[in-house]
Parts: sequence; structure tokens; C-alpha cells
Amino acid sequence: MSAASDLAGALAWARKHIVPSEARLLLRHVHRCQAAQLAAWPEEALPAVEWETFRRLVERREAGEPLAYLTGLREFYGRDFLVTPAVLIPRPETELLIDLALSRFSEEPRLKALDLGTGSGVLAITLALELDCAEITALDQSNEALEVAKSNAARLGANLAFLRSDWYAALGGERYQLIVANPPYIAEGDPHLAMGDLRFEPRAALAAGENGLASLAHIISGAGRHLEDGGWLLMEHGYDQSAAVRGLLADAAFTDIASWPDLAGIDRVSGGRWAGMPREEGAG
Ligand code: GLN
Repeated sequence: MSAASDLAGALAWARKHIVPSEARLLLRHVHRCQAAQLAAWPEEALPAVEWETFRRLVERREAGEPLAYLTGLREFYGRDFLVTPAVLIPRPETELLIDLALSRFSEEPRLKALDLGTGSGVLAITLALELDCAEITALDQSNEALEVAKSNAARLGANLAFLRSDWYAALGGERYQLIVANPPYIAEGDPHLAMGDLRFEPRAALAAGENGLASLAHIISGAGRHLEDGGWLLMEHGYDQSAAVRGLLADAAFTDIASWPDLAGIDRVSGGRWAGMPREEGAG
């Protein structure tokens, strides 16, 4: 098809290639309009440049590229975040981490919190926006990811600190009341990595060692050096990892260890409280 003269024609063409809801979303993105406008004025003209842009996006979607990378946006906790292929696409189940953090710290006047592997910044920025006066540090080992997170903070008006760091490596002796993380947790050999959106997402944000637990284990073993006594560590993990993660937390002498289910009823976040230095370690 060489050109679509109106919105309805463009949608009719696109529906032969991708599902209708995604066609509408891409057309709204290109034509910068609301869903109601598409429905009410299907005969509205589609300028030739927009048609070209739309056609290319539909072809890329048909080839498997994630919708969020095509539109450059994904909603999380009621706000739109910029996303690029340098960052994991935010998932709805990750909102559970925010709910758990807010239920523990919404009365805390100046929460000091750390987001490990912030990616697009959804966790750190949402906490900063939901909790007035919180002091949030967002770190990532990827400069490209930090650039995306900084853009999101600026767009959404969130005030937080950013740090380039391989997990705790650049943190010095800082301690926090809360550490959150949505680390990579898929096993390197998992066939899902070659399917769907995951094919296009940064491997470093998805896969962690032979059983997917490498980053979670690293985060848990180092958390005691960066949590205040009584501070919480809350981590997202894979659908079958909650018992293993609780085991790692117990080995590291955490208390109040628990797992919480996501909207699908699957244990998706586990965490615990840091009770203080374990017996065998000295200060520091
Ligand atoms: N939840 C993502 C998925 O399984 C993975 C995200 C992650 O590894 N943190 O698709």
C-alpha cells in the first residue's frame, strides 16, 4: 500500500500485520491523538509523513520489536516513563515493590533509600514522587541506563541522586533504611530469553548466571553493609525463586523474611529486615 489517506485506512492496513489494539496505539502515537479522536473521526486525513512513520513502526512491531521501544514510553504506577533499548521495559508486577515500600515507609519523614540497578528509574523515581522528602539514590552500572533514568526524573520532577556503580561497588560506607532491586533473575539458558520482548531487552538486565540467582545472591550478601539496623531489603525475583531467595536471606541473617504475591498470585517479591551485624563479622 503506497499511502493511506485517512486514519481508518491506515488502521485497516495495519490490522493485516499486527493486532488491532497495538495498531491503534501506534497510530495514536504517530498522529498524537487520543483514543476517542480515532474512534470519532476515522475519516480524518493522515499526512503523508505520518503515514510513512506509522508504516515503518507497524513493520518493526510485526518483526517483534517491543511496543514500548517503538513508542518510547511505558506507564508505571500511573506515570509515563521514557524507555529505550538500554533499559528493561517496566512490568506491572514490579509495582508490588512500590506498594510494599510505601506500606512500610509512608510515615517516615526522611526515608533514605537505595535502588540497585535502576534501569529506566521507575522504582527510585516513583518512591521519590510518592514519599515527600525521601532521599533516594538510584544506581546502575550502565551509563546509558542512567541517562534514561535522569531524563525520567527531570520530566517527572523527581529529585534524587544518581550513581554509576556495579551493585554496591561505588557506594562506600553509605547505609539506607530501604534497599529495593529488580535485578536480572532469568537463568542464562532459559529459552524465554529468545522469545517476545525479552529478545530486544538488555541481556544484563534480564539474565544472571546459570540459575538466575547470581545477582540476587550478590545483593543479599552485600546488603548488611548498606542497611541501617532494622532496614528493609525488598527484591523482585522469578516465579519459582521465592524459596531460594528466602533461603539466601536466612543464610545472611535477615529477620522478618517473607514473600509477597503479584497480581497473578505468584510470589514475586521477597525481602527481610537487617537486624544488625552477624556474630562473626567485625565492624565496617
Ligand atoms: N520479569 C521479567 C520477565 O520475566 C524479567 C525482569 C528481570 O529479570 N528483572 O520477563
